[in-house]
Amino acid sequence: NTTHFGYKTVAEDQKVQEVAKVFHSVAAKYDVMNDLMSAGLHRAWKLFTIAQAGVRPGFKVLDIAGGTGDLAKAFAKQAGKTGEVWLTDINESMLRVGRDRLLNKGLVTPTMLCNAEKLPFPDNYFDRVSVAFGLRNMTHKDQALAEMRRVLKPGGKLLVLEFSKVIAPLQKPYDVYSFSVLPWLGQRIAGDAESYRYLAESIRMHPDQDTLKGMLEDAGLERVQYFNLTAGVAALHTGIKL
Ligand code: SAM
Repeated sequence: NTTHFGYKTVAEDQKVQEVAKVFHSVAAKYDVMNDLMSAGLHRAWKLFTIAQAGVRPGFKVLDIAGGTGDLAKAFAKQAGKTGEVWLTDINESMLRVGRDRLLNKGLVTPTMLCNAEKLPFPDNYFDRVSVAFGLRNMTHKDQALAEMRRVLKPGGKLLVLEFSKVIAPLQKPYDVYSFSVLPWLGQRIAGDAESYRYLAESIRMHPDQDTLKGMLEDAGLERVQYFNLTAGVAALHTGIKL
């Protein structure tokens, strides 16, 4: 038992460190790589997520793993001066890029360096909690989802945007793209093939649509549903805390 526990701890520590290394290394080129790798599609997926969130003036919103701040920027505009939109991330380099981008747009948003698995916010606080392309990187996804539910108000909505499982006919070309083209692009544009190899691997390991739906339900969320985006390249899962 001890050996197993000891081994697990080392493996988990390694994952946390690897994720940190990846995002320190990609922070500066993150936005341009996002556009390039997804052919701009991530913008459409985020617009869909923003529409489903339906943030109104005065809302309190938490964007987890917010990185360079695409969702927080839109939410901050919608929530207005009476609202409260938090941009949070576990990685200082990503958070700094995000905070500066929002400030340049004249948006003042509180930012917080924090791990989604242990959120430094009170119970029942937020109207909306979002996480875009972040859950995949978390070691204890069940714990993170439980934390997201905890900080939501009753009636509040969780939105999880993440890569997912593409429809069967696209599986092969998609694998070629992610395991060959992506690392090559990463090397050419950001001088870093390794981080993009990690990206492809983390997408492959991530639970598919129905598994993730079950995980949200296990975390206590209700009326859980998902929307496939671009043939399942990504999916948006939503759930309500009742
Ligand atoms: N949400 C942004 C977007 O959609 O463009 C950034 C997504 S980026 C691919 C993933 C982010 O997850 C990184 O900024 C990383 O630092 C963050 N992250 C990874 N593990 C985390 C954790 N346990 N808690 C909070 N953030 C985490």
